[in-house]
Amino acid sequence: MVVVEDLVRTYGSGDTAVHAVRGVSFSVARGELVALKGRSGSGKTTLLNLIGGLDRPDSGTVRIDGTELAGLGERELLALRRDRIGFVFQSFGLLPILTAAENVGVPLRLRKADRTEREERVDLLLTLVGLEGHAAQRPGELSGGQQQRVAIARALANRPALIIADEPTGQLDADTGRAVMELLRAVVRSEGVAALVATHDPGLLALADRVIELRDGSLLDDVDDAPAGEGPSA
Ligand code: ADP
Ligand code: MG
Repeated sequence: MVVVEDLVRTYGSGDTAVHAVRGVSFSVARGELVALKGRSGSGKTTLLNLIGGLDRPDSGTVRIDGTELAGLGERELLALRRDRIGFVFQSFGLLPILTAAENVGVPLRLRKADRTEREERVDLLLTLVGLEGHAAQRPGELSGGQQQRVAIARALANRPALIIADEPTGQLDADTGRAVMELLRAVVRSEGVAALVATHDPGLLALADRVIELRDGSLLDDVDDAPAGEGPSA
């Protein structure tokens, strides 16, 4: 369970201050996929970075399974990011010289999991994301959609409480993006992890359990997904 209360983050000060996040509160339960929408510049990345412990808020709190981030020192925050949060980025963020299996195993190595546990978990995760036949391939030998599947498997490696995905389908074509989003949807349920996914792709919002919208750093009231079948692509 992730609980965010009254988060504020301002870049700079005085006349040039940018109020990127202005008092945001919400929560995400385990097994729940919450989509964060909002146009470019609305504060999505800033908010995700605060929740993921990549940036510190000016005020407000983030609690992940009861642990308040503000109470942690740098080392503890690093460990929490490594063990409790899985990150998925628009540009995949895989290490090009490692195979798919080695990329998925990186968080397990960082946690110093032993070799047997690592190999079993990596096999299971590659199967979960539909890449069991691709373990030995490097990112450059995989399609964009396959690379993002590897990134999702890596994000799940340490059985995190939370997955944070910042426009995970932004570099994929519409069909591949939808397939990746459907995979995320499925693993969030099967792994019982909370997920917060920033996207401004209207076609993907319908896959979320809940959609929240940022506008100029503030959360609007919860908005509903567009009803199925509406819109120009139908
Ligand atoms: P989004 O991800 O929704 O596009 P961002 O969180 O990246 O929005 O940006 C929100 C606002 O904060 C924008 O006005 C952006 O220009 C500003 N901003 C983001 N990062 C920084 C930074 N490091 N320094 C100053 N301003 C920033
Ligand atoms: Mg962004």
